[in-house]
Amino acid sequence: AKTENISNPHYFDYYLMDKLIERVNMEKRLPRALAEGEFELFYQPKIHAVTMEIIGMEALLRWNDPEEGMISPASFIPIAEECGFIVELGEWVLWEACRTNKRWQDQGLPKLPISVNVSAVQFKHPQFVQTVGTVLEKTGLAPEFLELEVTESLLNEPALIKDRLDSLKGRGINLSIDDFGTGYSSIFYLKELPLQILKIDRTFIQNTPHSQRDSLLLRSIIQLGKSLGLTVLAEGVETEQQLQFLRENECDQIQGYYYSRPVDCKTMTRMLEDGSTN
Ligand code: C2E
Ligand code: CA
Ligand code: CA
Ligand code: CA
Repeated sequence: AKTENISNPHYFDYYLMDKLIERVNMEKRLPRALAEGEFELFYQPKIHAVTMEIIGMEALLRWNDPEEGMISPASFIPIAEECGFIVELGEWVLWEACRTNKRWQDQGLPKLPISVNVSAVQFKHPQFVQTVGTVLEKTGLAPEFLELEVTESLLNEPALIKDRLDSLKGRGINLSIDDFGTGYSSIFYLKELPLQILKIDRTFIQNTPHSQRDSLLLRSIIQLGKSLGLTVLAEGVETEQQLQFLRENECDQIQGYYYSRPVDCKTMTRMLEDGSTN
């Protein structure tokens, strides 16, 4: 009832109270959902922009609530971050992603990197690097097949994250900067930190090529990434025209509905099998 008269103070009280209750409930439901096995990983392939081969996949979290059905990560990740539960949930994601990738490799499917989203709260946790090490060791996945996606906001705390990034890099783990262009990260940090992949946020691809402004911006970001020696990936590619534009501007990799939506584990397995037989 957002259209109600908001100058009525009682309306606001109820609205905020509702939101608060919803949040507190969600905070309580998250640990239970994890214990009950209601979380699941979906996978979205990353594609070479020219050969159109699958060159990796991103793990994306899904919550299968028995009552509400699939709940989008956009609605529960921010809450998990605020209450700190993201540390535990993120650790589960790491285990599940590494275990699954190792299983694919053991089945004789192509050896490809899997990317895992790591929220800032999780990344800053003192145990983070150690946890990653343990997961790789116990699952038997070689570090070069794990890629961590961190967001731009982290780059603004270079003193805090430099050592951590260095030691992850030292182990052979690849690091991507996610949602690039939406934050305010300094190009200086981008140059100083050990990153390999720049993922350009979907908002820059959305209106390309019909918006000239966005197309020019997109082209500049690709050039910036390349001049820093990074691999450049465009997120949210949905059309042939977008792909064409990205190819002409030498973007390395793409991801988006144009090739595939995020799919469940079974479907991803089939995509990998099909890809390896032709
Ligand atoms: P993200 O990391 O930027 O992931 C890309 C999002 O864009 C995914 O939404 C994906 O389904 C969607 N997407 C991919 N291709 C297209 C396209 O062509 N068009 C459109 N419109 N959308 C596309 P999803 O799966 O709902 O995830 C939303 C966000 O939730 C992610 O954004 C990420 O920030 C967060 N997230 C997901 N899984 C995890 C996780 O395991 N840990 C953490 N910390 N965050 C996660
Ligand atoms: Ca991501
Ligand atoms: Ca992204
Ligand atoms: Ca995003």
